[in-house]
Amino acid sequence: MRPLSYSQIRSFRTCPLRYRFVYLHRMPERQTPESSLGRSLHKAVEIFFRAGGARPMPLPILLQEFEGNFETDGFDGPQALRAARTEGRAILERFWNHETQNFRRPVAVERRFRVDVGGVPVNGVVDRIDRLPDGSLEVVDYKTGVRQSGTTEDDVADNLQLAIYQLGVAGAYREPVSRLSIHLLRDDRRVSVPARDAAVLDAVRETIREVARRIGEGELDPTESPLCPCEFSTSCPLFGGTVPPLPDQG
Ligand code: SF4
Repeated sequence: MRPLSYSQIRSFRTCPLRYRFVYLHRMPERQTPESSLGRSLHKAVEIFFRAGGARPMPLPILLQEFEGNFETDGFDGPQALRAARTEGRAILERFWNHETQNFRRPVAVERRFRVDVGGVPVNGVVDRIDRLPDGSLEVVDYKTGVRQSGTTEDDVADNLQLAIYQLGVAGAYREPVSRLSIHLLRDDRRVSVPARDAAVLDAVRETIREVARRIGEGELDPTESPLCPCEFSTSCPLFGGTVPPLPDQG
């Protein structure tokens, strides 16, 4: 069976036809300044923690890495690019100041997992896993967007991505996961909730199986969503387009 990821599940639940374009036709998604800045910040934070040695990477080196790995897709001119670089550097300075007090490396960063959910392989990459004082694990997802600044504990508790990551990390480490967190890099703020209980995880497994079943049965119709008209609207029947045949999946 085709492996799923949280991004694929989210895409399918937003619009199954758009899922088809992105993941079956492999049509490139439109990049935005926000997504490019987000990936650039994720990369810089990963490099910061992966650097060896007992002491943290100095701030000038971190900022140099950020500049060297900055993604420029989606920006419409040098002014927007300059503003994003300045914003990114300010975010990383706050991150560095926070992390270098009582510096400790996480258990893992950008940790890949694959977990079997009722016969459905699910892949993921967890931004960060921390060890809590009681020895259990905390799963952390970084968010960088302005829209996420108002994230509350209820948002984290309802977050499907973190629940899937809990399944993945618990399977990969065979150790208890006791906390799920969204770390808002822009605000240097972490919003945490206790790990999801067995009943919630069962519902998450059911969601994954249901999405896999519908994809397997070819339920890939267009569905109006906040993304309409998306970058593939010229191939979408809701906007007068014709869906191209599926490419050879071989
Ligand atoms: S235009 Fe809307 S309905 Fe059509 S593929 Fe894009 S998101 Fe789906």
